[in-house]
Amino acid sequence: MSSTSVQACLRNYNMVKYYFQCVNCNQKLDGDEFHYLCPYCAKDNQPGMPPKGILWMKYDYGHAPKTSAFELLQQLLPIQDERSYPPLKVGDTPLYSFQKMNAKELDFDLLIKDDSQNPSYSFKDRASALVSAFAKEKGISTIITASTGNAGSSLACICASQNQKAIILLPESAPVAKLIQVEMYGAELQKIAGNYDLAFDISVELSKAKAWFNRNTAYNPLTIEGKKSVSFEIFDQMKGQIPDMVFVPVGDGVILSAVYKGFEDLLFSGFIDKIPQVCAVQAKGSSNLIDNLNTEQLRFPSSSTLADSIAVDIPRNFYMAKHYLKKYKGDAIIVSDDEIMKASSQMASQFGLFAEPASATAFAGFIKSHHNGEMIKGSQILVLHTGSGLKDVSSAQNYLH
Ligand SMILES: *Cc1c(COP(=O)(O)O)cnc(C)c1O
Repeated sequence: MSSTSVQACLRNYNMVKYYFQCVNCNQKLDGDEFHYLCPYCAKDNQPGMPPKGILWMKYDYGHAPKTSAFELLQQLLPIQDERSYPPLKVGDTPLYSFQKMNAKELDFDLLIKDDSQNPSYSFKDRASALVSAFAKEKGISTIITASTGNAGSSLACICASQNQKAIILLPESAPVAKLIQVEMYGAELQKIAGNYDLAFDISVELSKAKAWFNRNTAYNPLTIEGKKSVSFEIFDQMKGQIPDMVFVPVGDGVILSAVYKGFEDLLFSGFIDKIPQVCAVQAKGSSNLIDNLNTEQLRFPSSSTLADSIAVDIPRNFYMAKHYLKKYKGDAIIVSDDEIMKASSQMASQFGLFAEPASATAFAGFIKSHHNGEMIKGSQILVLHTGSGLKDVSSAQNYLH
């Protein structure tokens, strides 16, 4: 899909007007000014609890173009000029279709969307590209982010290509490949002697004090907007169809929400008439998003899983993810670290796709659901592959030996 790729079509002329809307109180905020969080809800946020006041960007769908999904996407993003995007190829990733597994014919289509083929080798580049383009149009040249690894290496990569300065706050425990990426891309790396939450708080203070743009996941609503492009691409690559099921690995719940948001944009604009069944997959040692879906009394025990990119104590996009999973009756699946590594090995040996543990989590969810006989004959089952296995070879090494 080279000539009509989503990224190539991001030429924006008269973008549809947008506003911000709070996930918790539904307050609308004018799009002429940029907002991170809803000022009404955010002021009561407690440490140790998921933040309230995460914002959606919403559009006047009545004025959205009805011609093609590409034109629609270009209008439903807050960028004026396509030249603001990085020169690197972000998104427009392969969608593979497999009919066999373990030498057996499958009676459904298994589709794998390979987002390890992004410039920094993870799905995070979709968000970083939009954040970077937006900052460029607003004349901001320094972008900061807290990260467990991939968001940081992604922002460092994208900023390198855009002559922007990236400041990356990572916990010392991040896998070495992700730390090395940040440094090789020439970003300023600050290792934090503490966890992601501490890095997050420091980055927010720094961005306020210095007027830097902040890319923190969910906190910056553009991270959700940037990632939604995957749903438009899937729709296009499936020639105007949508999958029956989509398996998504979940940490903070931004990718999950963005997948839904993209399909909702298509639904509200009349391109599709239903939303696919989405399956949120988490690692057993880090399942706080799923575990709190049906309780009033929220609890957030600390996480422990080798899938570092989805090792999250407090899911930052909890309320939005919950909203979507309830609204569209999504599924939730929890898999063990052992199942994750088996899934990673199976993806690599069966299909030639080497996934880091967080990414293989989605495939492990698919395997589990397949074992339970949940795949309908003739259906289209899509699994997101979100990050390259080379980002964390030590987990694979431990699995092999
Ligand atoms: C960040 C990440 C995820 C999870 O995304 P969330 O938005 O935090 O739920 C999954 N896989 C990889 C490789 C990631 O880097």
